[in-house]
Amino acid sequence: MTTPILPTSDRSVVQAVANEELRLRYQPIVRIADRAVVAVEALVRWEHPEHGLINPDRFLPAAHRDGHMPLLDRWVLYRACRDLASLGDAAPEHVNVNLSAPTLKTDFTELVGTALRRAGLSARRLRLEISEGADLDTLTQAGPRLRSLIERGVGVALDDMGAGATDLRYLSKVALHGIKIDKQFVAGMLDNPRDHAIVTLLTELAHRLGLHVTAEGVETAKQLAALAGVGVTYAQGFHLAGPLALAEL
Ligand code: C2E
Ligand code: MG
Ligand code: MG
Ligand code: MG
Repeated sequence: MTTPILPTSDRSVVQAVANEELRLRYQPIVRIADRAVVAVEALVRWEHPEHGLINPDRFLPAAHRDGHMPLLDRWVLYRACRDLASLGDAAPEHVNVNLSAPTLKTDFTELVGTALRRAGLSARRLRLEISEGADLDTLTQAGPRLRSLIERGVGVALDDMGAGATDLRYLSKVALHGIKIDKQFVAGMLDNPRDHAIVTLLTELAHRLGLHVTAEGVETAKQLAALAGVGVTYAQGFHLAGPLALAEL
């Protein structure tokens, strides 16, 4: 069942930001070998006055349509950097922040630099997740800016790997930190040999390129064992931990 997106007459993300109604949840990313939490992914929620806490699939489509994604991404980036810094010694090593395709078309190097500086966070603690679903033009255009951030120590991971039009040129040209295997393959790998083969191949390719591999959407112990069996080293999913409030970290 799909959740309906908010009615178009509804308030926009611009008002959500102005009224301080956006919230962040942080989902742990775990090293499979010892279950250590190595990073958390920032995931946005909207605490809507009428609809309660709502998930991004209900308001990101409208934000995309109305050109509000750069505003949302900026808010998330600033808040996530500040939140990680505020945890001090209790903090995980890294925070992953999703950057949408429209933001990748802007001058986001400046934005990232400002977010880090204001939070007093070192660049190596931040990892940007860029969705493989973004069109190749956008990814290509963002290449030089991503490279300059990578030179400063920021990590860049390709999100939802396998779900878009996988273009190996991208893997060969940008010094990515890692890939995140899309959850549809994790969901299918125990029953569908083709999904299993895709996970295995993506993992082998990534490791040959020196990239970290994270599997998304891990919901069962069996999936976790199968992932470890094909050499996946990091995992994220409800079986390990769901998205948590900052205080719960
Ligand atoms: P994503 O970046 O691939 O994030 C992972 C999504 O999978 C999250 O959904 C997370 O809650 C969900 N998930 C985690 N573990 C499991 C599991 O075991 N099973 C299943 N079925 N799902 C799991 P969420 O938070 O609803 O976010 C959906 C998408 O919305 C994200 O996919 C990302 O593309 C986008 N998004 C979320 N937060 C932000 C944000 O701050 N900025 C931008 N630009 N996009 C965001
Ligand atoms: Mg992500
Ligand atoms: Mg993903
Ligand atoms: Mg996804």
